[in-house]
Amino acid sequence: DNTTFELAGPEPADVLHRVFGHPGFRGRQEEIIRHVVAGGSGLVLMPTGGGKSLCYQVPALCREGLAVVVSPLIALMEDQVAAMRQQGVAAAALHSDLDEDAAREVRRALAEGEVKLLYVSPERLTLEGTLSRLQERRIALFAVDEAHCVSQWGHHFRPEYRGLSVLAERFPGTPRLALTATADPRTVADILRQLSLADSPVFRGGFDRPNIGIAAAPRDQERSQLRAFVRAASDGSGAGIVYCGTRKKTEQTAEWLRADGHDALCFHAGMDARAKRDAHRRFARGDAVIMAATIAFGMGIDRPDVRWVAHTDLPRSPESWYQEIGRAGRDGAPARALLLYGAGDIAFARHRIESSPAPAEQKRIERDRLEKMVSIAEAATCRRRILLRCFGEDGPENCGACDVCVSPPVLFDGTVAAQKLLSTVLRTRLPSGGHFGLGHVLDVLCGRLTAKVAQFGHDTLSTFGIGKDLPDPAWRGVARQLVARGALDVAVESHGELVPTEAARPILRGEAKVLLREESLTPSGKRSSGAR
Ligand code: ADP
Ligand code: ZN
Repeated sequence: DNTTFELAGPEPADVLHRVFGHPGFRGRQEEIIRHVVAGGSGLVLMPTGGGKSLCYQVPALCREGLAVVVSPLIALMEDQVAAMRQQGVAAAALHSDLDEDAAREVRRALAEGEVKLLYVSPERLTLEGTLSRLQERRIALFAVDEAHCVSQWGHHFRPEYRGLSVLAERFPGTPRLALTATADPRTVADILRQLSLADSPVFRGGFDRPNIGIAAAPRDQERSQLRAFVRAASDGSGAGIVYCGTRKKTEQTAEWLRADGHDALCFHAGMDARAKRDAHRRFARGDAVIMAATIAFGMGIDRPDVRWVAHTDLPRSPESWYQEIGRAGRDGAPARALLLYGAGDIAFARHRIESSPAPAEQKRIERDRLEKMVSIAEAATCRRRILLRCFGEDGPENCGACDVCVSPPVLFDGTVAAQKLLSTVLRTRLPSGGHFGLGHVLDVLCGRLTAKVAQFGHDTLSTFGIGKDLPDPAWRGVARQLVARGALDVAVESHGELVPTEAARPILRGEAKVLLREESLTPSGKRSSGAR
C-alpha cells in the first residue's frame, strides 16, 4: 500500500540531485513536494520562472504509478516531454495533434506501464475512454498546470478545463496539484472550487523579485523622464524594454531613442510576421538593444540580462505590470522598473471598462484590478509591499528598493486645496451641463484673466484667484490625485473636461479629509506636474 511505498520510495532530495542535477530546493518547493509525496493535494501559486515544474516532477518520481500532467498548450507539452526524456525520465504526450499511429503507440506504452510521466491536454484526459483506462492503473498524482485556465474571469479561460472537476470524483484518493502564476483572489477561488481543492493548502510564494528596483511617477515630460531613467538603469550592456500603450507610440518611441543614439527596435501585433521575427531575433541574440513594444512582446522572451523595463502608460492590472517588469533582471543582477502614468490613463481605463460589453461581474473584477493598479501608482507607502499584497504575499514594511522607501513622499492635508479645485470645477459648469478642461480651471483658480476667462465671465466667480498660493504643477498633482481617488472624472472622449463625481460631495462638505502627496522630484529632476 501507499505507506510502505512512501517509506521505500526515493527521497525528494536524491531525485533533485540525480535526475535534475540541482543542488537544492528553492523557496517552498521542498515543502510542496513533501506534501504531495505524502499524498496531499494543493494549489501552487508562483510566478513564471519560480520553479513550479519541479513541484510535480519530483513527486512523480518519488511516488509509485503514472503521473498525469494536464497542460493547455501542445508546444509546451512537447518541450516538457523532450526535456524530461533528456533527464532519462519516461515521458510521453497525448493530445489532438498526434496522428493515429503516434497516439496508438502512446496508448500501448501506457498499457505496458512503460510511461512514468504523461502530459495530456484537458480534452483528451476527460474523454471517457482515457478516464476508464487510467482508473485501471495506479496513478501517482494529477498535476494541473496553468490552472488559471479554469477561471472564466481571466483572459485565458479554456472551457475544457471545466471538465477537470471529474478528477476529484473519479480519483478521490489521488493527489491533485494545481499550479499557476496568476494569483488574483478571484482566480484562486475559482481554481479551488472547480478542482475541489477547498480543503487543501494553498502554497504561495516567490513573487518578490528583490533585485528589481521599482519606481513610478506622474508622466510629465515623458522623453526626458525616460532618458534620465535609461541613463541611470543601464551601463551600456544588456537590454531594455519600453512598454507603450499604443502601436503608434512604440514606433515613435523607437524612433526618438534611435535619434538619441540607442539601438532601438519596435514590436507590436500589427507588424508583419517577418518584421516581428527579425525584431525577436535581434533581441534574443544578446545585443544591447532597447525594445519599444506593446504588451504583445513578451511570450518566449528568455533573455536573462534585461536591465530595465519602463511603462509609458498605466498597465491594466498589477498582474500584467508584475509580469512585464518581471522580464528584467532574470540573471539576478540589479535591474530597474519605471512606471509613468497620468490622470488621463486612469480615466481612460475606467471608461474602457464601463463601455465594454462584458457582463457586470467581469466589469467588477476588471475595475477592481485597475483600482489596485492605481493604488500602486499613487502609493504613499512601500510600493513593493502593495504590489506583493495583490498576490497575497506579505512583504516587509519597507523594502528599501522602491522609490517610496528610498525617498518617502511628503503628505499634507490637502482638503482645502481639493475643495478649492472641486468648487472651481463646479462653479465653471456651463448651463448646458458642460465642463472645462484642467487648463481653464487652473486659469480661474490662479486668477489669470485670459480671453476665455473673460468670455465666460469666470473672473467674477468667488473662486477666481483663490488658488494663487500654489504653483500650477502642484495643482496638476491635486487634480490627478482627485482623479485617482475617483472624485473627479476626465471626459476622455472629448477634450479632457473635468467632471466631479459623487465622491466629490463629502470632500466639498468637509466630511472627508484628503491627504495628498506633495509632488516630489521626478526622475527627470524637474518638479513634476502631473495631470496629463
Ligand atoms: P515555472 O514553471 O514556475 O515558470 P520552471 O519550473 O520552468 O518555472 O523553472 C524555471 C527555471 O528554474 C528552470 O530553468 C528550472 O530548471 C529552474 N529551477 C527550478 N527549481 C530549481 C532549483 N531548485 N534549483 C535550480 N534551478 C531550478
Ligand atoms: Zn519599498
